[in-house]
Amino acid sequence: MQTTAIRTVANSLPQNEVILLTLLISKRYIPYTELWKIFGFIRQMTFLPAKKHAFLPMPVIFLPKISDFIYHILTFYYLCIQILCFIMKIKEIVSALERFAPLPLQDGFDNAGLQIGLTDAEATGALLCLDVTEAVLDEAIALGYNLVIAHHPLLFKGYKSITGRDYVERCILKAIKNDIVVYAAHTNLDNAWGGVNFKMAEKLGLKNLRVLEPKENALLKLVTFVPVAQASEVRNALFSAGCGCIGNYDSCSYNVEGKGTFRAQEGTHPYCGTIGELHTESEVRLETILPAYRKAEVLQALLAVHPYEEPAFDFYPLQNTWQQAGAGVIGELSEPETELDFLKKVKKTFEVECLRHNKLMGREIQKVALCGGAGAFLMPLAIRQGADVFITGEIKYHEYFGHEGDILLAEIGHYESEQYTKEIFYTIIRELFPSLEVQQTKVNTNPIKYM
Ligand SMILES: [Zn+2]
Repeated sequence: MQTTAIRTVANSLPQNEVILLTLLISKRYIPYTELWKIFGFIRQMTFLPAKKHAFLPMPVIFLPKISDFIYHILTFYYLCIQILCFIMKIKEIVSALERFAPLPLQDGFDNAGLQIGLTDAEATGALLCLDVTEAVLDEAIALGYNLVIAHHPLLFKGYKSITGRDYVERCILKAIKNDIVVYAAHTNLDNAWGGVNFKMAEKLGLKNLRVLEPKENALLKLVTFVPVAQASEVRNALFSAGCGCIGNYDSCSYNVEGKGTFRAQEGTHPYCGTIGELHTESEVRLETILPAYRKAEVLQALLAVHPYEEPAFDFYPLQNTWQQAGAGVIGELSEPETELDFLKKVKKTFEVECLRHNKLMGREIQKVALCGGAGAFLMPLAIRQGADVFITGEIKYHEYFGHEGDILLAEIGHYESEQYTKEIFYTIIRELFPSLEVQQTKVNTNPIKYM
């Protein structure tokens, strides 16, 4: 009866891992005792949502006519797997956030990443905020959550003592005292595809989104030479390690066949050829592109899979800008709007109490450039790219001068512009860790009030 019920669940939820595990068990490629390790490995490799695992059917049901003894052993291991799947370590959540917004994308002045705490702990819940304040930490404590994810880093400087003399130090003490991990995704999330500015653009219904100021000096070209027979294996390993992405295309490479030569000296272990003799091998010259920050893992992948003892490879710095990462966003409204209608929409969307702008010139608004927070530095670029309006959180008095004819400027407040960043965290966590409790803070951390 029970088995029939499980079988029904199994049939309605076909899972690749289950099929794989079943095959491995039935072929006796793995002992049952190693099951959970393999399962954990698969989960790590695929970053599968925990919820799916919670409903994984027991592998044993695919095996016909097994003894009670084996059935009970498998049931035991299956339960172990289930328990393991419900344990979400904070470091898993942190690494999911960093896959979305890699830390190397942060600006030089920034201090994004782990701020306080030990990430080996099991996550009891995540509270999402723009700024870490004592009130936010109190909220996390009341909820019983031990992870606070913020956009703005709590810590920007080194401390020689922590005595609680200002709110930052009091937050540090409170977080440590209550075993709360504090994590911040700041300019790495500003610069990431799908990050802070994309969320703002989504709220305004913009289309055809592009990065306003794509990152410079952020790409490398890798060229390596591989025996023809191993070329596809090496190519695939490089793609898996992060090579070959151009725009919305992946697996991009260029391959041309030629002849490689070498002579192995005494003490070497050549993959082909004979020691002391000049050898000629048919090789593929394989070219591909990668973000510079992934160089170490790509090199590791190349060395792991390349058959040669001393593979030849070159990393070249590229002058190309990286269109998939950088500051600000530019996009278009589907229909042009009047300046006044558009500003009213912005005010409503971002719940702006006081929207500051320059003189209205009667232009139509269709092309919109924006940058959350203090983004006025992008104004010249927005003008050069022909935007009708530039929206940001902060613009200084003198920066308003002389641009009436160039562009409509809309200053909506730092907090207001970035408040929906919490939704980005929420989406990532909900998708990958559906059984984890997660909430956006109810505390309005905006320190600026209007009267
Ligand atoms: Zn900010």
